[in-house]
Amino acid sequence: MLAELRERSERLRRAAAALEPDQAERRELGGRALDHALAYLDQVETAPSNRPWSEVFSQTLDPEFTDDGRDAGEVLDYVAACIDRPGFATTSPRFMAYIPGGGLFHSALGDLLAAASNKYSGFASASPGAVRIENACTDWLASAIGYPAEAGGSLVSGGSIANLTAIVAARDARDAEGGGAVYMTRFAHYCVDKALHIAGRGRAPKRLIETDDAYRMSIEALEQAFEEDRRNGVRPWIVVASAGTVDTGAIDPLPELADLCSRFGAWLHVDGAYGGLFALCEEGRVLLSGIERADSVALDPHKTLFLPYGTGAALVRDRRHLLDAFSASADYIRPLGESQVGPSPADLSPELTRHFRAMRLWLPLQIAGVAAFRSAQSEKLALARYFHARVSELDNFDAGPAPDLSVVAFRYLPQDGDANEFNQRLITHIQQEGRVMISGTRIDGRFYLRCAILSFRTHLEHVDDAVDALVRGVAALNSA
Ligand SMILES: *Cc1c(COP(=O)(O)O)cnc(C)c1O
Repeated sequence: MLAELRERSERLRRAAAALEPDQAERRELGGRALDHALAYLDQVETAPSNRPWSEVFSQTLDPEFTDDGRDAGEVLDYVAACIDRPGFATTSPRFMAYIPGGGLFHSALGDLLAAASNKYSGFASASPGAVRIENACTDWLASAIGYPAEAGGSLVSGGSIANLTAIVAARDARDAEGGGAVYMTRFAHYCVDKALHIAGRGRAPKRLIETDDAYRMSIEALEQAFEEDRRNGVRPWIVVASAGTVDTGAIDPLPELADLCSRFGAWLHVDGAYGGLFALCEEGRVLLSGIERADSVALDPHKTLFLPYGTGAALVRDRRHLLDAFSASADYIRPLGESQVGPSPADLSPELTRHFRAMRLWLPLQIAGVAAFRSAQSEKLALARYFHARVSELDNFDAGPAPDLSVVAFRYLPQDGDANEFNQRLITHIQQEGRVMISGTRIDGRFYLRCAILSFRTHLEHVDDAVDALVRGVAALNSA
């Protein structure tokens, strides 16, 4: 019996040996993978910002999964041709569509370190060092937006989950019985509706509040809605304000919203997934003043701190609200100071076992330093103003309002024909050309082009490239 089990174990071990490359094999494979990543980065500056989907099929893996595995070189060739190349190159300095995601190299290395040691970042007792830096990161994010020391937060996978996390905390704190009303503008990100739905508040009375001519929530309209709800016996539960809308980067009037919410007892949540972290730089801090008075804030380091996708942050001004919503044990009642490294992430979010996300944020902050982030953000704000000024000088372009942050919504006004249709064709032309990637949006029935500047790699010459692409595109369409 024993002999048989020994023999069987040894046989299976040999059969599974491919999972345990030895020291030399690890160096060989690691070197190849690193070379691959470095070669990718070497071509980012010059490569197109958008490539045809059909390239996905330029090579085949048939069958997709084999019993015996494949040569690593062959697999990496597939990755280069069929994964790295087709579709958007979000890492391109000329990618100015949607919300650009440059993906810091330091963070990629942070991911490698985190995955290699695979520290368990859910609980302080399992990995005090990992939890310490996670809390250091959330404290740092909280201080970046001006939150006090009692604030708390959780690194999550992105802005959608950050908004959900905050909305669940707001539900438990202010709408436990349900029935409270929700207030937002038509520019709120659609993930807010998803979050309300998941939080069991999809049918909460919802008031779409009017905006001013810069697409910011109107304080007068919000006050009227609060008063009307009060008169009708409906309790104002939560205002979901925007600190940087996706469409135009508009920032709702945060100080006035904070005043009004405290007068009416409503929770103020700020969706700052795109714009909130601009509070780190000086210009942004001025624009975002008042964000520190919100009860909760959703942030996206994978946008405004240039991290690779998969890092959002949910922050609350009073950490207890996250603990009340997500701590599964009563242990949290003990003073938080008892854990020398701060609270465990598992007590602050729905997740237990999770990616050790902090490493990808902490490592670049350590190595590059905070000032580089601040300067990069200020540079993006300046570049967006520069882009807006340049488009204002072009013939027949409506540059729209000056940007609050780093998104500019603008459109071409053709001499004749339908402006929406022309701008849609213009965007298709520019995207197919593949040099500069911009996107579009529809605001109140009008189609706008949208230039979003938020890659750490995007500099003056790339913004000039974008203006050139517009001029080329208009000329091509007008002569067609
Ligand atoms: C990007 C964004 C979201 C969604 O965040 P994900 O990270 O994509 O989940 C929500 N709100 C705003 C304002 C955003 O810009």
